[in-house]
Amino acid sequence: DRALVWFRRDLRVDDQAALYHALKTARQVFCAFVLDRDILDALPREDRRVQFILDALQVLDEDLRRLGGALIVRHGFAADELPRLAAELGVQAVFTNHDDEPQALKRDALVAELLGSFGCELRTSKDHVIFERREVMTAAGGPYGVFTPYKNAWLKKVDPFYLSSYPVERHAHALTANKLAKGVPTLADIGFKPAGLIDHMGRGSRGAAALLDDFLDRIQDYDNKRDFPAVKGPSYLSTHLRFGTVSIRRLARIAHDLMKGGDHGAEVWLSELIWRDFYHQVMHHHPHAMTAAFRPEYDQIQWETGAHADRLFTAWCEGRTGYPLVDAAMRQINQTGYMHNRLRMVVASFLTKDLGLDWRRGEAYFAQQLLDFDLAANNGGWQWASSSGCDAQPYFRIFNPIAQSEKFDAQGKFIRRYCPELADLDDRAIHDPWTRAPLDMQGRDYPQPIVDHAIARERTLARYAVVKSRA
Ligand code: FAD
Repeated sequence: DRALVWFRRDLRVDDQAALYHALKTARQVFCAFVLDRDILDALPREDRRVQFILDALQVLDEDLRRLGGALIVRHGFAADELPRLAAELGVQAVFTNHDDEPQALKRDALVAELLGSFGCELRTSKDHVIFERREVMTAAGGPYGVFTPYKNAWLKKVDPFYLSSYPVERHAHALTANKLAKGVPTLADIGFKPAGLIDHMGRGSRGAAALLDDFLDRIQDYDNKRDFPAVKGPSYLSTHLRFGTVSIRRLARIAHDLMKGGDHGAEVWLSELIWRDFYHQVMHHHPHAMTAAFRPEYDQIQWETGAHADRLFTAWCEGRTGYPLVDAAMRQINQTGYMHNRLRMVVASFLTKDLGLDWRRGEAYFAQQLLDFDLAANNGGWQWASSSGCDAQPYFRIFNPIAQSEKFDAQGKFIRRYCPELADLDDRAIHDPWTRAPLDMQGRDYPQPIVDHAIARERTLARYAVVKSRA
């Protein structure tokens, strides 16, 4: 008759599947989060995500207290702490939501086994996506490998049942506070330092709600504005989706309803949410792709290695490639932990197809830097750009970083924001300054291009020829 809810990537009270199921089942429900040293110990001591999580936990604790519960926060190894806490509280079941990342599945199997040793059950629910695992399959019973047919099947299957919210508050009387709930630790308590989290990302579920309100005022323009990094086009909700400070059901329901009313912006945005489900199911069906190429023939590609390759990689990370849009994008991720989607595609293409570097190096750098880092989406994005993935960009389609710049940042507004050393160049020169304004560039602290795009393009086509011959 007692249950524990183990929060992970679902840091909210509203429409939370595991919390709802626990409240429906048990008379006393406790809530906990483990700051897992298996994850935290590997991070640098300054990490924006840790601040984001602590902020979200603070809001979660306040919301639970308002409903009569409270959040117990532990700092240690989840596989030790969670079973220990369940035993201490004398619960018969622990409720949690699916986390389908390979490492998380291993951890959960271990926790289930440890709980089982004293008769406690681990009960899990879907919460992070609309459809997961084997819910959307082809007529032949296999997983989809191409997005558009997946999306069509997704849209055909979706109905109010999948999009409706769990009415948590209606059952909240079972929430129980406990003396073990002593508030949320500070960064210093767990050995971290402030990392400069930008305010406009918003704190916890309240921050997510504010971002959503703001986005709903402009969702109808999403399709026209989403590709221009200097324009406020996208929702900026990815970090909240990652940590579950907003419910995916709520977002998909809003978008789906607006789409049915003829809103094209909402329709395109819903498609992006479906991409998120798509990559999530790719991870479930093809876990090998989380470390190797989705299409094995792409593992034959010989990437650049050695000291020169390392220097190219460092220039890319630091935003000093001599290609202004690439550099502005890399400075955006370094300074804020966010990067606009168009720019993620541009810099990923640049790393693999202009610099000839292994996509996994870029993927790992994004994994360190992104506030919204999500294994399935990040891997999907990188393998799309390197052409090795499921429904990826064909290998012979190679973005021209200058043409991308002229098209998507025509007046150089975004470049000027992140590369102030170029701010006074005119709208034409700013995309390719060393060619178009060489005299103006003398003595400026801005590098010459580290590769010539035309030459790099030819090299890439040659590099990818091993794929063509095997395809
Ligand atoms: P919006 O345009 O408002 O989109 C709404 C939501 O849809 C996003 O919050 C996100 O959850 C989802 N979404 C949008 N595009 C994609 C996509 N292509 N794949 C999967 N989900 C998508 N997204 C992440 O959440 N985490 C990552 O680690 C990540 N790494 C990426 C790496 C590369 C190389 C590329 C090309 C894309 C990556 N994306 C990743 C997808 C996308 O760039 C971000 O989701 C988006 O920029 C987040 O901004 P937003 O919330 O304002 O997006």
